[in-house]
Formats: sequence, structure tokens, C-alpha cells
Amino acid sequence: MWVYLNDRFVPQEEAVVSVFDHGFLYGDGVFETLRAYRGRVFQLSEHLNRLERSAARIQLALPAGRDQMAGLVREFLQRNHLQEASLRITVSRGAGEIGLDPTLCKAPTLVIIARPFQPYPESLYTEGVLVIVARTRRNLPEALPPQVKSLNFLNNILAKMEAKAAGAHEALMLNHRDELTEGTTSNVFVVQQGRVRTPAVEYGILEGITRGWVLQLAAELGIPSEETRLTVEDLLRAEECFLTNTTQEVLPVTRVDGQLIGNGRPGGITRRLHASFRAGLDRFLDRE
Ligand code: PLP
Repeated sequence: MWVYLNDRFVPQEEAVVSVFDHGFLYGDGVFETLRAYRGRVFQLSEHLNRLERSAARIQLALPAGRDQMAGLVREFLQRNHLQEASLRITVSRGAGEIGLDPTLCKAPTLVIIARPFQPYPESLYTEGVLVIVARTRRNLPEALPPQVKSLNFLNNILAKMEAKAAGAHEALMLNHRDELTEGTTSNVFVVQQGRVRTPAVEYGILEGITRGWVLQLAAELGIPSEETRLTVEDLLRAEECFLTNTTQEVLPVTRVDGQLIGNGRPGGITRRLHASFRAGLDRFLDRE
């Protein structure tokens, strides 16, 4: 596999980053996870937009412009003969002396890696998954804004460890006011009285690209939806619940902390949204 590192493609064995890189030392950097279907990236410009927003928020100048970055991603897929793939773009502050000051780093490090996409077992979609509500709280937006997709992922990792210990697929995190935020790598939705509801950005979430598209799909299908305030009670009383992210698309949740959601089967609105997602994929595949 070829890896893109800073300014060139190198064999993956040669793709090494300095031990002085502030991404390694401090988690100082940003990233994106993207998915390619049939050799074309889904929502490429949305992902590059978010990478730019994340970088701007931490005053990190991206080493490549928008068109150049898109070109690199396309070249990456071609060189590696990848059709169905999960890709990751990482931009760290770069190598520099020890110390928090970002100006110690001369130039950011840019890395693009990927792996062939491993489909999730179909049973996850037909049966639904178990999630827990984690004891770990989502980062306070005033401390480390969840809207920045940063390399500083320990908050999510701690919650993921809780999920794993409980045998759950995902952990949902509350904010410091007991409001529902998101999963460790996913956004969460509930369906209540036929209405699709998801935590609004202000409650402390990453504005997921899949989330955005699911809200658009709901509008197109005439299903009412809202971005709002949700609590654990909403979750437990929901008729349906599902998660969204780039790699898992729309994933039904059928149990929370051992309690069934609705009748314990993937819900009808969840299934409709996922079917529309797959049917409409082509609209958002990169065309260059
Ligand atoms: N929330 C978090 C914390 C994430 O890490 C992710 C993606 O990995 C998401 C939500 C979903 O975002 P997207 O739909 O853009 O993949």
C-alpha cells in the first residue's frame, strides 16, 4: 500500500513520522475519516470543508489547498487500486522541540492512509446493536470543542473502553448537564411519535456529515425532524434509535443499557432512511 506523507507517496513501510511530532507528543492536530464506494469518495468536499474548519479552529495552516487535497485523495485511491475503502487524512502540527507552543513546529505533517473497507456483518443492520450510556462525559465545548475533529481523542477512547467492557457496540456520552451528545465515533438519533430527533450542535457534538445527510433525507421523505435537546429518558422512551457515521451509514440501535428500544427490532423509519441513504449514494460520490 502506498501512503501519502507530506509531499510524496511512499511505500507504507517507509511512512514514518518523527517522535518529535506534536501530533504524537500532544495530540495536536486534526483528521478526517472518509469512505470510498466504487473508487469514489463519498461527500469529499464536505469532509475537506470540515478538515478546514477543524484546522482553522486550532490555528493550523493546512499544508495543501482544497483542490490539491482532493487530487491527492483521488490519486491515492488510483495508486492503491482501491474501490471500497476507508481513508484517513491526518494533519498534525508537525515536528518541533518539546513544548506546547505550536510555533515550535516548522511545518505540519500530512498523512493519508487507507484500508480496504471491511463490511460490517449484515446482522448488525437486521438485528440492531446494543449501546450503553457511558459514565465518561463528552468534552465540555468550552474546553475542547467536539466540533473540532482533533487528534486529541482520549475522551472518546475512554467511553469506547466502557462500551467494550459492557459488550456494547457503542457508548453514548452525556454532557456535563446530563444532555445526550453523541457516540464515540457516531451521531445518535431517536424517533419519537414519528419524528426524527437528534442532539443539536450546541449540546456538544461533532457535526457529522452522515447526520447532515440523514436530516436532508428525512426532509425529502417527508419525515419530520429536529435538532434539539435530548436526555436519557428520551432515549429510553424512543420508538426507534439509530447511529450514523461515515463507515457505518445508518445503524439501528435496539437496546440501551440492556433495555429494549421500541419492540427491540430495527424501526421502520430507521430502515427507510438507510435504504434511501444507499439508494441516493451516487448523488454524493466524487465525480472528478
Ligand atoms: N461524532 C464523532 C465523535 C465522530 O468521531 C464521528 C465520526 O467518526 C461522528 C460523530 C460521525 O461523523 P461522520 O458522519 O462525519 O462520519
